Amino acid sequence: MLARAQSERPNILYIMSDDHASHAISAYGSKINETPQIDRLAKEGMRFDNCFVTNSICTPSRGAILTGQYSHKNGVYTLSDSMDVKKVHLAHHMRDAGYQTAMIGKWHLATDPQGFDYWNILPGQGAYYDPVFITTEGRKQHKGYCTDIIADFTLDFLRKRDKTKPFFVMCHHKAPHRAWQPAPKYKEWLKDETVPEPDNLYEDLTKRSQAAQRATLRVGDDNNLNDLKQPKPEGMAGRELRKWAYQLYIKDYLRCVRSVDDNVGRLLDYLDQEGLTQNTVVVYTSDQGFFLGDHGWFDKRFMYEETIRMPFLMRYPKRIKKGSVNRDMVLNIDFAPTFLELAGRKAPPEMQGRSFAPMLSGKTPKDWRKTMYYRYWMHLGGGHTVTAHYGVRSRTHKLIYYYGQALGKKGAVDKPTPPEWEMFDLVKDPREMKNVYGDPAYAKVTAELKKEMERLRAYYQDTE
Ligand code: CA
Repeated sequence: MLARAQSERPNILYIMSDDHASHAISAYGSKINETPQIDRLAKEGMRFDNCFVTNSICTPSRGAILTGQYSHKNGVYTLSDSMDVKKVHLAHHMRDAGYQTAMIGKWHLATDPQGFDYWNILPGQGAYYDPVFITTEGRKQHKGYCTDIIADFTLDFLRKRDKTKPFFVMCHHKAPHRAWQPAPKYKEWLKDETVPEPDNLYEDLTKRSQAAQRATLRVGDDNNLNDLKQPKPEGMAGRELRKWAYQLYIKDYLRCVRSVDDNVGRLLDYLDQEGLTQNTVVVYTSDQGFFLGDHGWFDKRFMYEETIRMPFLMRYPKRIKKGSVNRDMVLNIDFAPTFLELAGRKAPPEMQGRSFAPMLSGKTPKDWRKTMYYRYWMHLGGGHTVTAHYGVRSRTHKLIYYYGQALGKKGAVDKPTPPEWEMFDLVKDPREMKNVYGDPAYAKVTAELKKEMERLRAYYQDTE
């Protein structure tokens, strides 16, 4: 009986890229590219339209995904924090549940991965070309392009796996992270095309918060030689520079995405060939979103829509109706509880996220969250001078509080900045162009959101 129940548990293939915004995926309506392989998961599975990251930056998002906890609980607040090797997380629980566990690609949590039967990871950010990988055997350089190699290693693992157990595989691409270095075969792709610009590429930031004006995320001005692969033309500035730099940056970004898409296709083809598709949960996501020239920016960190929104596509033919869409608010801390439920396990009480497995069959629990809490800790740190902040997003509004300093010993210790608030009406202003904080017409909803933010801070025990 037990053996049968166990054999019916799905395999889980979790594919995550780095900095791949949903508005660069055609299943999410991208106006700038096509992702036919990733789209297979949307066509054959479920697209989640409101999946959010709780701290929009690489290392903390990975920490939250593994632990099911916010940064202040798992200790991974910033890019310089590491995963405590004693921390018991998703991989340990999946292994205890009888799964063979593997972690392949970008790990970015400093310490060696724990809880995985097999791991083969990039050191830190890793390299795009001829990258070094680390296993329990040590470091080894491999010829080729990083995105292809990570898929190769994933396929190797799947071929050699222990077939008496279900598998839980995390395949983490480095791409399309900065500095957006494409595969040699795609270097010329898009060369003679003009990629459409976002409607707010030339936004006048002087009308925004001090926090927005302080941030050094500006396409053109804040891009360096590694980003652009050529020097900025002498005398070029302002709008002209942005226009020029946007094309260079976005084309390389999309070239990197194209390799990710190809390699998602290779993994899906393998599952088809091996007859594994029916009983395998496949996820495609990214550690956070990204500004694709939106507000004139690249990078992430801010609690704005483009960067907190994670693409999240899930295929599981046994449970999910083809081509379905879910609009409930799900968070990266929910992934671990969801996978554990699919594996027949209850999430441990220390996990703060909640399983959204019921939504796979279209059943949203009545008491599902209607607001989410966000916090970015790296006050002015990490090279982009983004101000530390926290906030709350409801289905219709967003309130952000820039509290103005690094609290405790967390975050880069830098000079305090004056506290300020932002508030956006997501229904009337989905692009978040107009701060309505202080507008009397929004006094009531502002007060409600402040109360809700404090409730969430207490609920998640973020009291610092
Ligand atoms: Ca990232």
